[in-house]
Amino acid sequence: MEIVLTGTGSPLPDANRAGPSTLVKVDNCHVLVDAGRGVVMRMAGAGSLPIFLRAVLLTHLHSDHICDLNDVITTHWVMSQGNATLPIYGPPGTLEFVNRQMHALEADISYRIEHHEELTNGPRVEVAELTPGEQFTLDDLSIRTAATEHAPVKPTLGYRIEHNDVAVALVGDTVPCEGVDELAREADAYVQTVIRSDLVGLSPNSMMLDILDYHSDVEQAAQTAARANVKRLVLTHMVPAPTEDQYSEWIAKAQEHFDGEVVIGDDLTTISL
Ligand SMILES: [Zn+2]
Ligand SMILES: [Zn+2]
Repeated sequence: MEIVLTGTGSPLPDANRAGPSTLVKVDNCHVLVDAGRGVVMRMAGAGSLPIFLRAVLLTHLHSDHICDLNDVITTHWVMSQGNATLPIYGPPGTLEFVNRQMHALEADISYRIEHHEELTNGPRVEVAELTPGEQFTLDDLSIRTAATEHAPVKPTLGYRIEHNDVAVALVGDTVPCEGVDELAREADAYVQTVIRSDLVGLSPNSMMLDILDYHSDVEQAAQTAARANVKRLVLTHMVPAPTEDQYSEWIAKAQEHFDGEVVIGDDLTTISL
């Protein structure tokens, strides 16, 4: 299993970090978790494309995690010449969001169908809204969901993806909670979106301070990693985005609470399990 950080950014625009998304690859089975800004560009950099996707899994409907789903849908549609179906899984509300995306794309869809003989239908998507605790399979992958806590964003879901004896937990934006502990238990990798509360807390901007109460900070992610006994903690969606020379400081903060490997990186950082 390969985990590629296809976007390590956050809502804050960053020239070098795409919006939140992570690609899980097992042989030819590619699963994308979230679809933030620039995701299709980064998928290309990761040796993938929307047409290779077995499914998209959404953790929640915050714009930074879904704003480029329309690009995933359109690129999948055009490259498959309308012949493939893109499965999209997410929390309740996902179907309405996808339907509205399709509505927004209506003009484009009609232009392309009119222009290209090969295209006789619009994008084919298949949306499944999940409830926490639900389990399903995608080829040889087994996926488990659990509720995470990111109030007032409700509901939010985390995922655990298993293949043979390898497991990864990808939990999105959440404070530490039972659902995250359950998904991460004994996992080979636990991918957590994080903030630095010590730095964000210094901001004079009250909207910035608001993010403190619904994200895990680095210490909390490390405490979860230790509690769940994971092999590695993978940090992503870092706020504020660190420069490379600051990575060691972030890792040191995590290591105060967690003995395993701590991974922090740039877009396209890849973890092989
Ligand atoms: Zn969020
Ligand atoms: Zn976010």
